[in-house]
Amino acid sequence: MTTLMEMANSGIVTKEIKSVAAKEGVDAQTVRKLLAQGLIAIPRNLKSRSQVIGIGKMMQTKINANVGTSRDNVDIEAEVEKAITAEKYGADTIMDLSTGGDLDLIRRRIMDSVSVPVGSVPIYQAAGRSIENMTCDDMFNAVRKHAQDGIDFVTIHAGVTLSSFERLKNSDRILDVVSRGGAFTISWMQHNNMENPFYSEYDYLLEIAREYELTISLGDGMRPGCINDASDRAKFEEFIILGELVKRARRAGIQTIVEGPGHVPVDEIGLSVMAMKHLTGNAPIYLLGPLVTDIAPGYDHITAAIGGTVAGMYGADFLCMTTPAEHLALPGVEDIKEGTIVTRIAAHAADLTKEGVRERARAHDRKMALARRDLDWNGQFKQAIDPDKAKEIHARSKNADTCSMCGELCSIKMMRDVMGEKSQER
Ligand code: SF4
Repeated sequence: MTTLMEMANSGIVTKEIKSVAAKEGVDAQTVRKLLAQGLIAIPRNLKSRSQVIGIGKMMQTKINANVGTSRDNVDIEAEVEKAITAEKYGADTIMDLSTGGDLDLIRRRIMDSVSVPVGSVPIYQAAGRSIENMTCDDMFNAVRKHAQDGIDFVTIHAGVTLSSFERLKNSDRILDVVSRGGAFTISWMQHNNMENPFYSEYDYLLEIAREYELTISLGDGMRPGCINDASDRAKFEEFIILGELVKRARRAGIQTIVEGPGHVPVDEIGLSVMAMKHLTGNAPIYLLGPLVTDIAPGYDHITAAIGGTVAGMYGADFLCMTTPAEHLALPGVEDIKEGTIVTRIAAHAADLTKEGVRERARAHDRKMALARRDLDWNGQFKQAIDPDKAKEIHARSKNADTCSMCGELCSIKMMRDVMGEKSQER
């Protein structure tokens, strides 16, 4: 079977490429070339019915929302509702991270309930009840099963290797490994005294990916879990390995995305993103956060949005939603809603600065500014990321013309009177 990337390399402009080009306002030949070079990914399993999106260079920053059960909390309907809510509030993709209950059923229900691409982490299912006793076949069979179901992209922690683990052991980390997939993989390697099969048998993984047009999101098992651990050797060792794996995937015609940290202080985010881009040949970068401080539990959607904005400005392409429940509990539906909206804001703020997408993003802000100038409240709601919340708060204002912040002293109204028609010309 010829993959989407190989078709792009042969000069074929597929319907997926045309769809992405139309959505992004980018010429189809440009999208084709970027896809052929691996600079954008279009995650879409052959069996998928999902919408087509582009992630990477010249594409608007995309956001992902994580949903899924835990072993302590299995409520399929709640997870389906979370997925629907995330899509409603702007998630471009959904990842099912379920670890409790009937994982096949939950995954299929989530896929059936949304129209955006869906990703998963197959090792969560492969590990079952015993990580140590998981076999190599369990790991690859889980990938195949998810691919057969139509999952569009899978996180694979292939950069967690014996060598990156050695680096970790020699580091001064406080939190060692906070990635669940990373911790599973290290436990398995330690117990079995073997290399990570997703690394040693990477070509087999690529064969499965080829069969189903599965995009591989190379997970960051060594991502730092606190500010103290940011930007250390273990993290960069993994980036180097992931860069090599991206190169091998591209040669095999398989699309890749590269995942990144984690917890990073603002002044080190640029370094992280630029290093990731450099070491991976400018692969699409997918960031979990980064959270810019450790001390705001309950508000980590905000610490992540600050980091996501800065990371986007430096070239991150895909932001993973963080909710107010991060580090505290399994998120509820309201947490997912708030996390998705806040991450959407971060992505847009980054787009205002990004080459290739800045003009469209700024046009949106201009429409809002014009509606504000005209005291056109419905116009403002229409441009708002969360119109319901904007309407609800404005309803507290009794004066239909201005708002209760300044009331009669509304500077916009005053200046409209002073400037007259000139005000309307801009
Ligand atoms: S009343 Fe004040 S806050 Fe409200 S629209 Fe006018 S200037 Fe803005």
